[in-house]
Amino acid sequence: MSSRSVTPASTIRVLMVEDDEDDYILAQDTLSDMTSVCVQLDWCDTFESGLQAIARGEHDLYFLDYRLGAQNGLDLLRQAAAQGCTRPVILMTGQDQGGMDLEAMRAGAADYLVKGQFTAPMLERCIRYALERARTLESLRLSEERYARACAGANDGLWDWDLQQNVLYLSSRWKEMLGFREAEVGELPEEWLSRIHPADLRAFQMALAAHLEGRTPHFEWECRVLHRDGDYRWMLIRGLAVCDLEGRRQRMAGSQSDITARKRAEEQLLHSAFHDTLTGLPNRALFMDRLGRAMTRRPGYHPNHYAVLFLDVNRFKVVNDSLGHPVGDQLLCVLADRLRQILRSCDTVARLGGDEFTVLLEDINGAEDATSLAERIYQEIALPIRIENHDIVTSVSIGVVVGPCAYERPEEVLRDADAAMYRCKSQYGLRYQIFDPALQTGALDLLSLENELRRAVERNELVVHYQPVVRVDTQHVSGFEALVRWQHPTRGLILPGEFIQAAEETGQIVPIGHWVLREACRQLQEWGRDLPEADRLWMSVNISPRQFGLRNLVQHVQDALQDHGLAANRLRLEITESTVMQDPEGSINTLEHLHSLGVNLSLDDFGIGHSSLSYLQRFPVSTLKIDRSFIHRMCERTKDLELVRVIVLLARTLGLRVVAEGVETADQRDRLNTLQCDFAQGFLFSRPLAPEAATQLLCRELLPQETGEPRRREEQPAAPYRPPGGSSSPDPGLPLPWRRVAVSLAGSAP
Ligand code: C2E
Ligand code: MG
Ligand code: MG
Repeated sequence: MSSRSVTPASTIRVLMVEDDEDDYILAQDTLSDMTSVCVQLDWCDTFESGLQAIARGEHDLYFLDYRLGAQNGLDLLRQAAAQGCTRPVILMTGQDQGGMDLEAMRAGAADYLVKGQFTAPMLERCIRYALERARTLESLRLSEERYARACAGANDGLWDWDLQQNVLYLSSRWKEMLGFREAEVGELPEEWLSRIHPADLRAFQMALAAHLEGRTPHFEWECRVLHRDGDYRWMLIRGLAVCDLEGRRQRMAGSQSDITARKRAEEQLLHSAFHDTLTGLPNRALFMDRLGRAMTRRPGYHPNHYAVLFLDVNRFKVVNDSLGHPVGDQLLCVLADRLRQILRSCDTVARLGGDEFTVLLEDINGAEDATSLAERIYQEIALPIRIENHDIVTSVSIGVVVGPCAYERPEEVLRDADAAMYRCKSQYGLRYQIFDPALQTGALDLLSLENELRRAVERNELVVHYQPVVRVDTQHVSGFEALVRWQHPTRGLILPGEFIQAAEETGQIVPIGHWVLREACRQLQEWGRDLPEADRLWMSVNISPRQFGLRNLVQHVQDALQDHGLAANRLRLEITESTVMQDPEGSINTLEHLHSLGVNLSLDDFGIGHSSLSYLQRFPVSTLKIDRSFIHRMCERTKDLELVRVIVLLARTLGLRVVAEGVETADQRDRLNTLQCDFAQGFLFSRPLAPEAATQLLCRELLPQETGEPRRREEQPAAPYRPPGGSSSPDPGLPLPWRRVAVSLAGSAP
């Protein structure tokens, strides 16, 4: 082997492995004739020395003779490649053998030359091509290596679809991502498509077609692909189609990345953007969106009826404040579940915030569907709920709007449903209220009412009216119920139904309630002082849920009694059955404290609060006041009559007295008498009376002679009681003083 020692930088170093020195010299001569390329030619004359020289990697190019003793240049080429040689090799033979060129190429040779048949320019071009090809192959190799590393790093799977053969190559990583082993996935593109989620398939195919037809520069699609475990994984599939020279699509190749985690996070984010975190129900944004869609949906066969129900939980704040926020939260979750169960899957129930829920009913037949659902919701919500040893009974006020109306925006529908709900809340005992345009002003009034209420106590605008409670058998006055009214400077006399709920929610009920308690005690003490036998009368005062939850309630009651020198047994505190049933165990405690003062306790509005018999036995109460809704219907509905009968019987068994509220007709009174109900209260006997009128009534009751004084009209704006049948003559069944009052009231009617 010979070599030249010094080589300029641009010189190409070539090694020739050739067992015939003449051929080497010939090649040398031809190379020296080359004009634009400077070559330094080294020479090895055996297979082995050639292989060793190649292994050193000192040359840019190799000329290998085909005949090398017992072995040949092709074997040398193969062994060199096996050692990692990537430099270009040009194979040379003595004579052109058929098929040799192809075999040389397959073995990795850059070119193939027949000795004596090439000129210097041919060799020069051949060397340049070989070097250029080697450079291209090297950069391709590097690029492939980079790509493979990038794919491994990105954890992507690869696919390559031969569009001509319709065969799909899938990388092992691709298969592994979907839980498959190498041989478990076939080569058909159809098999690939069959793994795509049916709901995503059509869109995927359309996007694929768009790219193959050249309408999109890249293919990129997110879809769910079936995993071996039977679940779907979200995959981002990317690809690019490759064309031949005529522009025909030859193949399409790309990658697949698992984006399940990202998708789940997105779904979670999307869910929390449109759902209430506490109850999981849709939130306001989603509700408004669905309502907007329902409003614009084109009517099909049926007219496009929808309805919105606006629900507000009554006295929720009281539960929250007295039992704590965790209980309040659990209560809201239970209510949300109940609503979910009542509704159809096509309806939407949402939590707007706080204790407000909304319901969207779609495709309904009309208002009756909405109102019967409102009725059902009311009943389901009223069922007792047990949370952490508390039996909570709650109720809702429901405002209803039935579409289609001339609404343009969902906000308008919600505003009106809200107004109807407010109206419902202010009407004592009302379960739902359908929106009527006249309501809108009412709702606005209520807002300013709340503000003015704050100043009502200081401005002395509150008054107490007194409604007599009579013994059913003798119809003599036994006591009074103190009922608050608001003598508003511009609106006139406002009844509690219009402001008590607002006062309860804002907390104003506390000062109002204390004032009523003291005022009622003062009045009773004054009557006892001025009228003989008035000291046997008792006074009922209503205690609101919030007052009932006050820690210093007992002290307040004690102070009021002491300050007016009243015996405790003259005072009767009325607490509604639903208030005590909100937390029966806690209630027993409070009731016992009050009871230990010596005051009487009465369960007001009894029959709608779901008391259980066991609790009833444990509450230290002395009286049940049957809710007036039962009295109202007892002569028309046997069910209500039976209920009244059972309550009276139950009270008797438990040693309790019964007061029937809202007695309006002689028929009701007679039936109550037959049932042996103890006391009655109602318009039949008297409406609640202003203090002076109550005093006059007492004068007549307790001093049987005529006083001759003009009688004051009863409170405004209530109309005086007229017996059924249009007759304004007093009921002959009434004792004398009552008949006189009835005449006087009828005479002073507006
Ligand atoms: P309540 O304690 O059940 O009072 C009885 C209500 O029934 C009174 O309504 C009374 O006017 C009405 N009523 C009496 N007889 C009849 C009748 O024959 N027919 C009809 N339809 N109604 C009759 P009012 O005065 O409007 O009070 C409504 C509610 O407001 C009361 O129901 C009570 O829960 C509450 N309330 C009134 N005053 C106070 C108060 O000082 N404090 C508290 N916390 N609540 C009060
Ligand atoms: Mg009452
Ligand atoms: Mg009542």
